[in-house]
Amino acid sequence: MSSIKPSRRWQPAFYPFKKEKFGRRLLGKTELLIKGPLFGCRMCGNCLLQETAFICPMECPKGMRNGPCGGITPSKNCYIDETRKCIWYCIYKRAAQLGREEMLLEVLPPLDWEKVGTETWGEVVRQIRITGTAKFIKDILSKDKDRKSKTWDSVFKTIRQPDWWQGDSDYHAPGYREPVSELERRLRNGEFVVATEVTPPLSANADKLIKDIELVKPYVTAINFTDSSSARPRMSSIACSKVAHDLNVEPVLQIAARDTTRTRLQADIIGVNELGIFNILCISGDSTKVGPSPMGSMNLLDIDSVQMLWLLRRMRDEGIYLDGRKMKDPPKLFLGAASSPFVSDPKLQAIRDHKKVNAGAQFFQTNLVFNADKLDPWLEQLDKRNILNKVYILIGIAPLKSFKVAEYLHTKVPGVNLPDNVLSRMEKAGEGAPEEGTQIALELIESIKNKKGVNGIHIMSLGWESVVRRIVTDSGLLRK
Ligand code: SF4
Repeated sequence: MSSIKPSRRWQPAFYPFKKEKFGRRLLGKTELLIKGPLFGCRMCGNCLLQETAFICPMECPKGMRNGPCGGITPSKNCYIDETRKCIWYCIYKRAAQLGREEMLLEVLPPLDWEKVGTETWGEVVRQIRITGTAKFIKDILSKDKDRKSKTWDSVFKTIRQPDWWQGDSDYHAPGYREPVSELERRLRNGEFVVATEVTPPLSANADKLIKDIELVKPYVTAINFTDSSSARPRMSSIACSKVAHDLNVEPVLQIAARDTTRTRLQADIIGVNELGIFNILCISGDSTKVGPSPMGSMNLLDIDSVQMLWLLRRMRDEGIYLDGRKMKDPPKLFLGAASSPFVSDPKLQAIRDHKKVNAGAQFFQTNLVFNADKLDPWLEQLDKRNILNKVYILIGIAPLKSFKVAEYLHTKVPGVNLPDNVLSRMEKAGEGAPEEGTQIALELIESIKNKKGVNGIHIMSLGWESVVRRIVTDSGLLRK
């Protein structure tokens, strides 16, 4: 492991700009020597091993600090480097073995980059002294579980949850009454809602975008605009959302953590609120590994999707920026998140989704579903966690236009799985594939629309916007 940490890579190896006392440097080296081989420690300087079943999540190529992305392969490996197990899958498994699953619910902060590459043991010693060394030792050895965990948290929670973050494992109901958007209003009214996605254009000309928006407008409540999906740049989601808003269509602005810094996020949110955009979908975003060459950084830039939800919820409900500054007019936001019901064990996925709801997700838009029955175990797990009444779920539906599209989704898109009968129906359909794909979508809608916890569908037309009218009318979901 290199002794020059990523956060310090601009420093000369033997003459660091930021000089640290010899004792601190020695402690840092010792910490790395011990924690490196034991826990896979990457010296992030913001240690959270307590909450991650003693496996360092910084091994994740994306740097996810609050759970897995939707990219775990069927063999539970990482889609960025298929030779390795997804580190978050390993954390979930270990946590289940150790009976520490519920600890995974705590919303963990983004890195304080000032600390990256430095030791955390000195901080632990300082906190133990504040608690009282004798008291700490006595309580930790005590059989009284409450006392033990209180004292433990007084040291370690203080370190991993700084004042500017204050993350926890609790649900925080939205701090406002009136719905902020039409999407929220309809969901609250108990309507079965239809949303769709329009692909942002590849050029600076919005004519096709406007045409596509007009095409689907009469049939849906809201339209999502992706944020450079597959890490391929397109017209920005903000620009597309503004175009839609000007056409009297309600947008869902997607923001990918991949390209977002904490500063950019807070600034954009205030700006888009002023433009009349209130539905925000926070996603991790596809890795640059699946994007075009030359490849950009695979890391999430600064903040993950769970952290985005937590930060935005606090901006809205507490009227504060991440740095603690108060704002006079907080933004109005209806916050959403992506969910991938089939990407791993439904029980593990439900923990991830529970965390998103606690962080601030009010609605989920799921990855593509092609097997209605397979949804049940996931919905049951969410129900067991008592969160079906705290989040609205829109199921992702894609009408397949050809067998090629079906095969691509099945083999190339993480978290998407097409059953054999769907694949063979599409293959046999030949020229009639678009009609067969439409029928499959209609059958799926019929079998999911009455499931407990399902509040609507999200049609991902994959560039086939003209099919939305047919799907909505033939499924009987057209609003009168
Ligand atoms: S699949 Fe996602 S969460 Fe898991 S290791 Fe890879 S990038 Fe990280």
